[in-house]
Amino acid sequence: MSQIDNLPPLRDVIATHQLSAKKSLGQNFLLDLNLTAKIARQAGKLEEADVLEIGPGPGGLTRGLLSEGARRVLAIEKDERCLPALQQIADAYDGRLQVINADALEFDPLEYLTPPIKIAANLPYNVGTELLVRWLTPKEWPPFWESLTLMFQKEVAERIVAKPGSKAYGRLAILAQWRSDARIVIDLPPQAFTPPPKVSSAVVHLTALPEPRYPADAAVLSRVVAAAFNQRRKMLRASLKGVAPNIEDHLAAAGIKPTDRAEQIGLEEFCALARSVASQN
Ligand code: SAM
Repeated sequence: MSQIDNLPPLRDVIATHQLSAKKSLGQNFLLDLNLTAKIARQAGKLEEADVLEIGPGPGGLTRGLLSEGARRVLAIEKDERCLPALQQIADAYDGRLQVINADALEFDPLEYLTPPIKIAANLPYNVGTELLVRWLTPKEWPPFWESLTLMFQKEVAERIVAKPGSKAYGRLAILAQWRSDARIVIDLPPQAFTPPPKVSSAVVHLTALPEPRYPADAAVLSRVVAAAFNQRRKMLRASLKGVAPNIEDHLAAAGIKPTDRAEQIGLEEFCALARSVASQN
């Protein structure tokens, strides 16, 4: 194993600072610094970017991002027990790391960051999904970030990149793929973490598109897709009844058969449907 920096191994950091993993904070740490450097490389060219890292914990991914050349890292960590360990990293990396002790769901990091901005995180899964949805639904597009490199439970990662016709295809796939390119870049078994979680994980990399893949109003698209997938086994003429009185006309305008089910409909058709519905409002 090659060494990525001159700081102590993470196992020692955890022992020194008594960072026993707390379940309530979803703490499953990555201790292999070669692996965290590999994850950091998936974020792309870091030299000219500010990286927002959520949930650095003892700092494995933080060290990966810094050793891979990130211009700056802003790390938001809720658990104050991690701060002394993170301070050691900040001291070793000459002002390139700023740590803020806050709940990422409550904290707005924008004024601390200079574009281009990349986001990287190994987060508890519930927090990760909530932040992903927020990052994908800003008031204006393009968003403040250029790319997201995020660890998820494998099953959630599959929902993000899913294509029509699969069980995993649904609201999250459409939300993610409408305005970004989303790929699974690394698969990880439970044993990659300490302590190991119950399920496998995967790193997803999303790159923001300059504009949506197909035109549509975000709120209307979201309403149509939510209605379609809330009753995913029903035919669309039934599941979308509440969306517009003459839904069959809109389905026809979008080239969708009224007897199709949500799972069969691609992003382009959903956007065409949202445009037709919006044109009547
Ligand atoms: N990034 C580290 C790693 O890869 O080893 C730690 C990963 S651990 C899965 C999740 C981290 O997120 C923990 O350090 C936890 O304290 C932190 N965390 C949990 N909820 C948070 C929140 N709402 N805001 C900021 N950090 C949070």
